[in-house]
Amino acid sequence: MSRARVLVLNSALGPLDYRVPYGMSVEPGSVVVAPLGPRQLMGVVWEPDRMPSDAEVGDNRLRNLVGVADVPPLAAPLRRLVEWTADYYLAPPAAVVRMAIPSTSALEGARTAIEYRATGELPERLTPQRAQALERIADRQGLIRELAAIADVSDGVIRGLVKAGAIQAVEVAIDSPFALPDPAFAQPVLSESQQAAADRLVAQVEARAFAPTLLDGVTGSGKTEVYFEAVAAAIREGRQTLVLLPEIALTEPFLRRFQDRFGCEPVAWHSGLRSTQRRRAWRAIASGEALVTVGARSALFLPYANLGLIVIDEAHETSFKQEDGVHYHARDVAVMRGMFEGCPVILASATPAIETRQQVAAGRYAELRLPGRYGAAEMPTIEAIDLIAHPPERGRWLAPKLVTAMEETLARGEQSLLFLNRRGYAPLTLCRTCGHRFQCPNCTAWMVEHRLTRRLACHHCGHIEPVPRACPECKNEDTLVACGPGVERIADEVSFLFPEARTAIVTSDTIWSPAKAAEFVARMEGGAIDIVVGTQLVTKGYHFPNLTLVGVVDADLGLEGGDLRAAERTFQQIRQVSGRAGRGEKPGHVYIQTHSPGAQVMQALVTGDADAFYAAETEARRDAGAPPFGRYAAIIVSSEDQAAAHDTARQIARAAPQVEGMHVYGPAPAPLAMLRGRHRFRLLVHARRALDVQDVIRAWLGGLDWPAKVRVAVDVDPYSFL
Ligand code: ADP
Ligand code: ZN
Repeated sequence: MSRARVLVLNSALGPLDYRVPYGMSVEPGSVVVAPLGPRQLMGVVWEPDRMPSDAEVGDNRLRNLVGVADVPPLAAPLRRLVEWTADYYLAPPAAVVRMAIPSTSALEGARTAIEYRATGELPERLTPQRAQALERIADRQGLIRELAAIADVSDGVIRGLVKAGAIQAVEVAIDSPFALPDPAFAQPVLSESQQAAADRLVAQVEARAFAPTLLDGVTGSGKTEVYFEAVAAAIREGRQTLVLLPEIALTEPFLRRFQDRFGCEPVAWHSGLRSTQRRRAWRAIASGEALVTVGARSALFLPYANLGLIVIDEAHETSFKQEDGVHYHARDVAVMRGMFEGCPVILASATPAIETRQQVAAGRYAELRLPGRYGAAEMPTIEAIDLIAHPPERGRWLAPKLVTAMEETLARGEQSLLFLNRRGYAPLTLCRTCGHRFQCPNCTAWMVEHRLTRRLACHHCGHIEPVPRACPECKNEDTLVACGPGVERIADEVSFLFPEARTAIVTSDTIWSPAKAAEFVARMEGGAIDIVVGTQLVTKGYHFPNLTLVGVVDADLGLEGGDLRAAERTFQQIRQVSGRAGRGEKPGHVYIQTHSPGAQVMQALVTGDADAFYAAETEARRDAGAPPFGRYAAIIVSSEDQAAAHDTARQIARAAPQVEGMHVYGPAPAPLAMLRGRHRFRLLVHARRALDVQDVIRAWLGGLDWPAKVRVAVDVDPYSFL
């Protein structure tokens, strides 16, 4: 080949053609360095007929490729996945392929690197920043800028600590091989139903063919043990496994669990990796040496040499949906990857999404069910507390019945968990005198008070302010009041009610690293905590046998806003958190505080009759032509200039094509009408399932122009309606 079509890693550009200089050899998938203006960019060679270019350049005007990276070419199945993803989610192919090649440093040759770590010595001058840095870094190791990020200080602070002798440089080898997991290391004896499910999955792995399967069983039924058998089979076959988790907070418990079963940790892939670890993992994945990789969404597009199995754990989780950059759903893309690679895909869930159930009903996915919890553990009892009939005392949030149950649990020496999906102390702060409410200057959102850090924070853009003494509006002092509870406020109430109890708050503010998560687990397991107050961060993955009481502080919270999945999500989330109770031999109890105990979703939670709830939800979706029976796509128009955004949104609406089976709603200001300083308008496209809505939108938007300061993003199959 003397001419190559290259997808350079710049989302603003289409594919470009280059000359392959004499002596260089490339093939589709080769990772190359290409000149672009005065710069050089990474890119991937592509089949020209699969990636049409609208900038055909004559042979004589082609520029030479600069080099080829010393890594295996991206294989055909991954290239097909990139094309499918770009096509389905209306994203530039370069933006998708970029997720397969995360950094140039992974491709460079160095085998050792200089990293830094604390020496254990304290510097002579210990400023608060230095103290914070040393506390957060503890036994971490990494590049200066990585340590600075972990410690939330500037690079200069870390460099100062190096000079002061509190941090030292160390040389590390970065390509040492990964340990090989041993499929026979600690093989459990499976129950009859577990064994039957495992046998089916093992047969699929050995058959080396695409086969999507829903593995459905209540929390604690042994889904993990069962899919580990499929992982063991893939290891025996010498093929790679990818385990996708919905968030990196779940990685730590997973690593330990995996080690117990297979004798060593799998390869972890997540945003918290140091660049040297990232390079080592990426290379091992691309060479096929990394037999099992666990990660969040970003692990999905890695160049596995020889993929034999994909597992999507907690497959119903909406955090698999990526909401910025390329708007893709990792669950759905993972199934497509399985199809292109020709390998089985396991979707494990205690509360499968309606979309997934529908695939089973349509015969496209197989289903394996595990009945009941494993061993002596029983499902917890679940009771609703009617907040209207039995309200908490004035100014409090916990109803008497829940408080009594907590008291009894404490007396038995067992642990309780209070779940409220709201960080901070209070979601709204206002002035008692003039009614002033604290709003984020960049977003249509209230500032959330955080008492632990004494500031007001916007959870959308990260803007923070100190809590003022005086109202900025009427200037009166000490008139600010907190409205509504967040976890910190619940923790205050718990300390007031049970001053002797040892309480922990678990949110992304307190558990910001895998090390913090491990510390929390150790304290729970060691019995050093009596009552946990936490957000959704504690609802998943953990297994605490002595945790027997779960209280859902505000079950109605998720129903606000009323998007199409609100009831389903509430059901999933509360079932999930309920699943934390009574996982050992002691029975568990769950109390759900709600203002509408009669609502269908609350009834379904209390009776445990998931099938009736899902049947009703599914019918409602079918009637409304909502997913999975119909399709949505959102078009979000945003700009710092409100008028420009509005004009473009109206222009897009006016140009909407008349298509049978498709309806366009809007534009309307998005519920989050301003986000990070940008004004936002939304159009919602609703279409029949059979309609190729992507093609319609491509042609529609492709014919329009808008000012450079306006951004138009398309979200196919949206999950967030904000
Ligand atoms: P799930 O993934 O469905 O929530 P797990 O696989 O985590 O369930 O199983 C719940 C608990 O029961 C875990 O502690 C697990 O080790 C244990 N367990 C499940 N099946 C078995 C088995 N066959 N032998 C021993 N322990 C088991
Ligand atoms: Zn904000």
